[in-house]
Amino acid sequence: VKEIGKPERAVITTCAYCGVGCTFRAEMRGEQLVRMVPWKDGKANHGHSCVKGRFAWGYANHQDRITSPMIREHIDQPWREVSWDEALAFTAGRLQSIKAQYGARALGGITSSRCTNEETFLVQKLVRAGFGSNNVDTCARVCHSPTGYGLKTTFGTSAGTQDFDSVDQSDVILVIGANPTDAHPVFASRMKRRLRQGAKLIVIDPRRIDLVRMPHVEAAHHLPLQPGTNVAVLTAMAHVIVGEGLADEAFIRERCDWDEYQDWARFVSEPRHSPEVLAAVTRVPAVELRAAARLFATGGNGAIYYGLGVTEHSQGSSTVMAIANLAMVTGNIGRRGVGVNPLRGQNNVQGACDMGSFPHELSGYRHISDGDARALFEADWRVALDPEPGLRIPNMLDAAMDGSFRALYVQGEDILQSDPNTKHVAAGLKAMDCVIVHDLFLNETADYAHVFLPGSTFLEKTGTFTNAERRIQMVRKVMEPANGMEDWQVTQALANAMGLDWDYANSSEIMDEIARLTPSFAGVSHQRLDQAGSLQWPINAAAPDGSPIMHVDGFVRGKGKFVVTDYVPTDEKTGPRFPLLLTTGRILSQYNVGAQTRRTGNTVWHPEDLLEMHPTDAENRGLKDGDWTRLASRTGETTLRVLVTDRVAPGVVYTTFHHPATQANVVTTEYSDWATNCPEYKVTAVQVMPSNGP
Ligand code: SF4
Repeated sequence: VKEIGKPERAVITTCAYCGVGCTFRAEMRGEQLVRMVPWKDGKANHGHSCVKGRFAWGYANHQDRITSPMIREHIDQPWREVSWDEALAFTAGRLQSIKAQYGARALGGITSSRCTNEETFLVQKLVRAGFGSNNVDTCARVCHSPTGYGLKTTFGTSAGTQDFDSVDQSDVILVIGANPTDAHPVFASRMKRRLRQGAKLIVIDPRRIDLVRMPHVEAAHHLPLQPGTNVAVLTAMAHVIVGEGLADEAFIRERCDWDEYQDWARFVSEPRHSPEVLAAVTRVPAVELRAAARLFATGGNGAIYYGLGVTEHSQGSSTVMAIANLAMVTGNIGRRGVGVNPLRGQNNVQGACDMGSFPHELSGYRHISDGDARALFEADWRVALDPEPGLRIPNMLDAAMDGSFRALYVQGEDILQSDPNTKHVAAGLKAMDCVIVHDLFLNETADYAHVFLPGSTFLEKTGTFTNAERRIQMVRKVMEPANGMEDWQVTQALANAMGLDWDYANSSEIMDEIARLTPSFAGVSHQRLDQAGSLQWPINAAAPDGSPIMHVDGFVRGKGKFVVTDYVPTDEKTGPRFPLLLTTGRILSQYNVGAQTRRTGNTVWHPEDLLEMHPTDAENRGLKDGDWTRLASRTGETTLRVLVTDRVAPGVVYTTFHHPATQANVVTTEYSDWATNCPEYKVTAVQVMPSNGP
């Protein structure tokens, strides 16, 4: 860290990396950021932070930042720097001509979990009210869309049930498909403190993540399941709980639909769902499945935390509902120390989902076919809305290939690198007439763009982020935008270039509109956030001070809904050609596709993507630590070095996806969650062979 002198002023703002939502004191000297100090009064971090939030902000001033708009007629031409006026006129002209020729449904947009609530709200408003379609989606499509579906179906709302502080009252902590020490470090420290105090830990994960065995913390049970078998593990646990009379029937009778519970209980009690039978599928010994189930049902307050190892599967939504079933059958909902808690990956993925970024939902998760909800927006926006749900990201790409989808506005996401089956994404983008990338850097998606609109960093804007515990916090501008405009101003300028008449003077006015149109945000304003520090939705007449814990007296949907979740093996199979299963994840010193961390000076942020492989599998292939390998699937292949480790089980390999040179998603498949199309990143049949390098 380069110290450039004592700070002259400080601004309290919120980290732009993960869903923990740590707040910081950004200390400034003139227009230069001197350092980021974790804020002692931060409600999510209580004065703590991880290295990313504290030190990895150098990308904000990186030489790769693009600060002038650029356009080009065709993607094989060089970029041409132009004024904002010319860029906006060019873009609006293209969008309008596509709309006139092919109709409103030929246009769409993608909102960003990196951007503020106010910015994502405006992008979906531009798509619905300006483009005239519901073709709006968000990067949650590839991470937590099954959380949205699963928790809304079972509990009635698409969000985690607890605040972070609640873990202090947990007696049993069940972590499934998440690696908090790498991906959510500040909350992981909180969790470890509780474990050191005596809480018991169950880890369900194919890898021996750090939590399984850390100093002073050891999992009571680690269930190293075969990738793709989450539902089978959870069903086996439910079989034990129901079969051994451990269900909390008093809670279920009072809070849940009893008939649905009985149907579900009969289902999980079938002999085919016993741990002894499902051990063959999950590769977890029956004795371990039984012991974990008994501990969770009888160990006191049981809290479940999960991540993308749950959602990014062909049965992602089923797994989320199976988790909800497990919480309900044990009565672990509606008080401190319990609950179902998705650990959101990106800083504002919760907020992007809340703000109406899905093609079927307006802000606050109201279905677009709901005439009353639509009428509220139509009256406020003075425009008629399409009552039909729009296209999801994969459907937009498919429609581009048949010529019915022709223009895409992408704010703050690199879909070429982050979405599955890279070749298909590239082909879809290439087929479009107008791709607009609104970002900090010329990312991989921009190779296929006709317009580049420079974006602003979290240090250059004012608005709000919502973290994994539904906590809405202010993001405050600490320096002027390098491009002259905050992202919401760019979207507003584009809307007005298309003939709309928007006149927001600041992002506070956008939040006022969100509050007016979104019941769960009714009590939110920037002024109130400035006074309170943060607020947890729902915040409205029924919950004037916000809601740290949800479903306290009843579920949002009324009665909790047990859903039968039958285990269905993924279509992705190993075989002689591809005998190993690849799963992917994140490490502490890198962040997703690395757009920020790769552009932060210290090389500690630049570790290469490595392929973790069990010693037995490595020996069978004549591989040793550091050797180059060719990683191939039926979709594609890439080259990377091997890391020989028993963190992964035999037959399983693991890598990260941070570097464009590696492009791990070249090998991932087209399979996706049955309900939401969330890609199945976590299960790909692969072969690994020695290689001479790239
Ligand atoms: Fe930022 Fe997450 Fe680290 Fe907190 S834990 S500093 S929110 S990356």
